[in-house]
Amino acid sequence: MKKKIIITLDGWSSCGKSTLAKQLATKLGYTYVDSGAMYRAITLYFLQHQVLWTDEKMLTEALKKIELAFVEDSATGKSNIYLNGKNVELLIRELVVAEKVSEVSAIKEVRNFAVAKQQEMGKQKGVVMDGRDIGTVVFPEAELKIFMTADNEIRIKRRFIEMRELDSNVSIEEVKKNIESRDYTDSNREISPLRKADDAIVLDNTHLTTGQQFEIAFNWANEKSSM
Ligand code: C5P
Repeated sequence: MKKKIIITLDGWSSCGKSTLAKQLATKLGYTYVDSGAMYRAITLYFLQHQVLWTDEKMLTEALKKIELAFVEDSATGKSNIYLNGKNVELLIRELVVAEKVSEVSAIKEVRNFAVAKQQEMGKQKGVVMDGRDIGTVVFPEAELKIFMTADNEIRIKRRFIEMRELDSNVSIEEVKKNIESRDYTDSNREISPLRKADDAIVLDNTHLTTGQQFEIAFNWANEKSSM
């Protein structure tokens, strides 16, 4: 009998974390939580409501008005993030949000708000969560921690293809600039910077297909849930 575990996937922007997390969650029958979508949805709310996040009072009041939920689309089986009852899965992927999300997610109050919700979602175990600080801060006791990486050029190309589907005017230079600046801010911020947890296993998928990376990670998950 296998036990339910927590699997964390942290790493640089666009290195395939969500693809692998979804594959693992589907195969294991676990819940997938895209923590980046939460920071993106908070950023979207701030942009839509002209919240000046440098103003502490305004920031605190705004956070009180934000409700986030992941809802499964019964037709596709895909989980979508809802912001105050509205599906914002597509809106949060736009470049305007991507350009501000690292600044917003570096704020202490924003992190406390998101981390509390993430920890609540992992209480029952049987969760795969991807992000930047999941193995270090959100679930330091997780049974399986994976730190994902891939060559810069590959990451930029992958994200460019994704972004092009949303906005045909986006250029590869804009995508490159955004990825590099987010990686810099995410790994140099004071609170919960992106770093590999000491007990995380590195998975470099530069030369792996999604099928190959899944096989590797699935074996690790089986080992850990049999222990
Ligand atoms: O994973 P994704 O690229 O959608 O995340 C968007 C942004 O959210 C990241 O660049 C980072 O600034 C922030 N983030 C974070 N901590 C997490 C997940 C995402 O700070 N656990």
